[in-house]
Amino acid sequence: MIGRINCPSEHGEMALRKIEKETVFKGEKINYQFKTYVCEKCGINIGTIEQTAAAQDAIADSYRKKVGLLTGKEIKTLRAEKGWSQKELAKKAGVGIASVKRWENGIIQTKSMNQALKSAFQGINIGNRYTGNRAAISIPRIKIVLKEFGKSVCADLLVPDDKLLFAGKYLWYADMLAFKKLGRSITGSTYAALPYGPQLNNYSDLVELILDSNEGKAEPLTEEEKRIIVSVAATFPDKRMVYDASHREDVWKNCNPGDLIPYTAAEDLTEI
Ligand SMILES: [Zn+2]
Repeated sequence: MIGRINCPSEHGEMALRKIEKETVFKGEKINYQFKTYVCEKCGINIGTIEQTAAAQDAIADSYRKKVGLLTGKEIKTLRAEKGWSQKELAKKAGVGIASVKRWENGIIQTKSMNQALKSAFQGINIGNRYTGNRAAISIPRIKIVLKEFGKSVCADLLVPDDKLLFAGKYLWYADMLAFKKLGRSITGSTYAALPYGPQLNNYSDLVELILDSNEGKAEPLTEEEKRIIVSVAATFPDKRMVYDASHREDVWKNCNPGDLIPYTAAEDLTEI
């Protein structure tokens, strides 16, 4: 219980004030406001434990606003609007309840965790988030898409024992762009953030299946889907370009190795 605080330099009782400060946090210059006790004479400010904690939350939230992450307050407010408990939000976002509690109380979520929260609030269910709103992956469609790309970028992207090093990136951009523009992916593939870039999840098990698949069994590409493929190929006419571009994407850089990349990250792509 603190009723009054005296200045340590014996200037007498300090006044409770709301002050604004500028600081650099994680490389971003931010402004934040907080309440603290201030000495009118020497200007020193001393916060109670609660005030110091509140100032730290204000810094975290100011930073989150600046870099486009939901703030702790926003997470709480959006959750209250939906009438969800922390446990319900955790389930819908596919994260642990302890994480939700921490994020609401000032710990900063990663970009991919922010995507998981946003998807939950947008009502996109967890299953579809990783297939781009398709019921399942279509192996024959992957083959068709890679052949389309092959025509445009003059490279055979599908050869036996291939590691899909470049093919995986063309597919990723095409599926992500289709999700962003058309509301669903072309192939229903799930992608993982691997050390060599975004890649078809379990790609090593898929190569032979793709090569052996019967394209005649695939749902033909729509004109809109073909246009997406052509535009991705035009942006990255050389396979080295698509490889390099994917490595500049924060969407990939902010993932831990092996993390699945949700399609909701499509809006944050910067190279296409
Ligand atoms: Zn003083």
